[in-house]
Amino acid sequence: AAKRAPGTDFLVYEPGLGTAADTGKDAAAELAAAIRDGELRTVYQPLVDLRTGRPIGAEALVRWQHPIDGTRPPDQFIALAEESGLITEIGAMVLDDACRQAARWVAQAPADADLLVTVNLSARQVADDRIVDQVAAALAASGLEPHRLVLEITETVLMHDRDAAAATLWQLKALGVRIAIDDFGTGYSSLAYLRRFPIDMLKVAREFVDGLGRDAHDDVITRAIVELAGTLGLLTVAEGIETNEQSRYVAGLGCDLAQGYLFSRPIEADAVGTLVAESWLSGIIGPRSLEEDR
Ligand code: C2E
Ligand code: MG
Ligand code: MG
Ligand code: MG
Repeated sequence: AAKRAPGTDFLVYEPGLGTAADTGKDAAAELAAAIRDGELRTVYQPLVDLRTGRPIGAEALVRWQHPIDGTRPPDQFIALAEESGLITEIGAMVLDDACRQAARWVAQAPADADLLVTVNLSARQVADDRIVDQVAAALAASGLEPHRLVLEITETVLMHDRDAAAATLWQLKALGVRIAIDDFGTGYSSLAYLRRFPIDMLKVAREFVDGLGRDAHDDVITRAIVELAGTLGLLTVAEGIETNEQSRYVAGLGCDLAQGYLFSRPIEADAVGTLVAESWLSGIIGPRSLEEDR
């Protein structure tokens, strides 16, 4: 969309910003057309096992490959997708792709790799009980083992309509998938839901990881989250790791997994498969090579 820059005669091009004529309805129609035309695709950000240093899977992140604007990040269209209901279609697409891609990574990697894929679910998806059938269908179509699929929800989702959310999460849990709390610690919520809902994993928000080693509050919060998770038997993931210092710090706290630009930006699914396969072929000492050396 073009916009006149203040005090100039130029039309400044601002990706993702609608023109004044754009109403929410037009925007939704554009997004619907984009879905139909196959402009939405899924990229994957590798998750790294902090004990071995190996990639053990990835988080699915949706992108809008706009023919003029280029790549639009989800922050520019997920809210619209939620309001318009298009999130149901987008969500199903991401789930299908994630399960299919993860099944391919699994097929290419040694069994010891113990791979997983995580998929974000928005509030509206969790409120819609069709999600259970969508997840079941994605698993069936791909043949992915259910425990390899981790569904990420935010604390806000849980606080929204607790009883309905709880019912849906328990149904999802019954399929054998795992549930993660995304951006843990940033939501407005009580810790009671960790017992009330079937939670398997906590993702420590980038907001806290950012200040590790510099900001005493972030250190304390991150340590508390990892300890809490350990006590409850939950896996922990540190999000937004950008420096070696942050990586060492969270590894030292006993955090299980990490994700961030230090390891990799979101990449194509095939590239994740290659990364995983290479990590098992390279000289990194892991369970398998130790066995073979004996
Ligand atoms: P999120 O689930 O918390 O995903 C992590 C976001 O942090 C991603 O942004 C990722 O690219 C970014 N990130 C990862 N590592 C780093 C790092 O080291 N530094 C920095 N500065 N950023 C990092 P992205 O892909 O733009 O996604 C933004 C949000 O959009 C996601 O946050 C998630 O809430 C939502 N989203 C993405 N894909 C989907 C989807 O398929 N469905 C739904 N419902 N929401 C999605
Ligand atoms: Mg996420
Ligand atoms: Mg997150
Ligand atoms: Mg998020």
